[in-house]
Amino acid sequence: MFCPSCQAEYREGFTECSDCGVALVWNLEQKPREEIVAGLMPVVETSSSAELGEIVDRLEKAGVPYVIEAGTALALLGGREEDVPHPWQARLSVATELSERAERIVQQARRSHRPFESPMS
Ligand SMILES: [Zn+2]
Repeated sequence: MFCPSCQAEYREGFTECSDCGVALVWNLEQKPREEIVAGLMPVVETSSSAELGEIVDRLEKAGVPYVIEAGTALALLGGREEDVPHPWQARLSVATELSERAERIVQQARRSHRPFESPMS
């Protein structure tokens, strides 16, 4: 996540720049593709297919429509070509007006998802 004003980089989970108070964006450069999909808000990026599955399951139960982009060259979509080849990752987006609701669902899914939990522990 980046601040479009001062260009500071933030970890995932932050939504606004603490210095400028403006909403963070996924990529500093606005690519034509992002204009084409105006109205779609990315709400999560993950490299865990299990986590993605948990999130999708919850979004479907909540009736929130979504779009997933996934692969090992996802970075190319943001113009970060120097990053490829890249580990598998996925980005899930929802309609902008549903993004706050979707983000709450994502947080709930992440809290419940414990990939390293052993049934014997
Ligand atoms: Zn800033």
